[in-house]
Amino acid sequence: MVSKKDDVVKKVVEGKIGLHQVDAEAGPDDAVEIRRRAVEKLSGTSLANIGSARMDYSMVKGRNAENVIGMTSIPVGVVGPLKVNGLLAAGEFYVPMATTEGALIASIARGIKAINMSGGATVRIIKDGMTRGPAFSFDSVEAVGRFIEWLPNNFERIRKAAQQTLKHGRLDGITPYVLGNNVFLRFRYDTGDAMGMNMVTIATEAACSAIEEGFEGARLVAVSGNMCSDKKQSLVNSLDGRGKTVVAEVLVKDAMLRDVLHTSAGKANEVNLTKNWAGSARAGSATQFNAHFANSIAAIFAATGQDLAQVVESSSGYTWTEIRGRDLYIAITLTSLEIGTVGGGTGLPTQKEALSMMKVAGSGNPVGSNSRKLAEIIAAAVLAGELNLLCALAARDLGKAHQKLGRGKAWESAGKA
Ligand code: NAP
Repeated sequence: MVSKKDDVVKKVVEGKIGLHQVDAEAGPDDAVEIRRRAVEKLSGTSLANIGSARMDYSMVKGRNAENVIGMTSIPVGVVGPLKVNGLLAAGEFYVPMATTEGALIASIARGIKAINMSGGATVRIIKDGMTRGPAFSFDSVEAVGRFIEWLPNNFERIRKAAQQTLKHGRLDGITPYVLGNNVFLRFRYDTGDAMGMNMVTIATEAACSAIEEGFEGARLVAVSGNMCSDKKQSLVNSLDGRGKTVVAEVLVKDAMLRDVLHTSAGKANEVNLTKNWAGSARAGSATQFNAHFANSIAAIFAATGQDLAQVVESSSGYTWTEIRGRDLYIAITLTSLEIGTVGGGTGLPTQKEALSMMKVAGSGNPVGSNSRKLAEIIAAAVLAGELNLLCALAARDLGKAHQKLGRGKAWESAGKA
């Protein structure tokens, strides 16, 4: 007997309906199964593993993904407890990391051990605000000149239009950047506990309409004109910040460097200057003078439901070291860490659990405190990663660790704990 599901699978395979139209034929869970079975037939590939991990797909529908056929699985490990001396994250935290790179979690764990034994990572958020950068076109530079004068005098009118779309957000400012007869406006918002891209896009669209109505000759070309800059490397994010700009530091004692990290302040400092500064400059890096911020950022983003494409600018930043006596001072600066604890993928089941592990799931009290706390924890984890990698390179340990942990050998036998 042909079931209703078989019938819909057949319709997709025969091209009578598109993959997205399955949603109209069945409930969220059945739609996922139907699409997967159809794609199995169409591609001639078994998708048993993609189909084996399950969740309540009604949570995804209309929010997180379209044409869903199942889930992918990434192992989630944990590091910690990590001692953080932040303004909101003050205490010890277990940090979830989703990765397939063997040795990564062990390497962060070793950095954490050294940080904890040094009294913890001190962290501060320097700047906070999400940006959207619409592009406007004008007939002439004369009109551009008048518009640049008009803009600050009409900020309240523009702010009001943006504000009508926001309950948890606030437009804080607009900075214009001119290119010939084009003007790029960098809008900056407080977005509370949300990363905020949907919020600021909707608000900026409303603000752009107010600009077009208020200034004759202003024509919106695109609500995102890349001065934002979302999901791309850019100097403007590095200089002006996007999301949260966060610094974290620790002073590691000589004995710790010797006993735990098998190196010295001088050697680690030399690696930092040569690799992260001279090497990055020689390679033409504009915003990433660090060893591997992206490793910690990507693993925590994947575990906690952040927008994965924003690893691009969220891993921009600098690692600074100084030799103090025989001790090593190390500080990292994340220029544009884009994270949230509400919205996007943060409410999905495993992601929410990962945030709960750090006591940052959902809306903070006061609003914004959860996402700021998460930013402080992430910065401390990034610091641990930088400290460990610089020291592993200085001790010429890197290849050894990856050979043992990236190729099926146990952590215990690698001696990295
Ligand atoms: P969102 O889920 O679209 O919006 C956040 C929602 O949470 C808002 O409705 C907000 O309410 C509400 N909220 C409740 N408590 C809050 C609190 N404590 N702080 C802040 N907001 C609170 O998420 P989003 O962060 O704006 O956007 C993230 C999503 O945007 C991700 O899925 C990402 O992949 C995607 N994204 C979109 C674009 C784009 O161009 N649109 C670009 C990149 C990424 P109010 O609205 O009432 O304030």
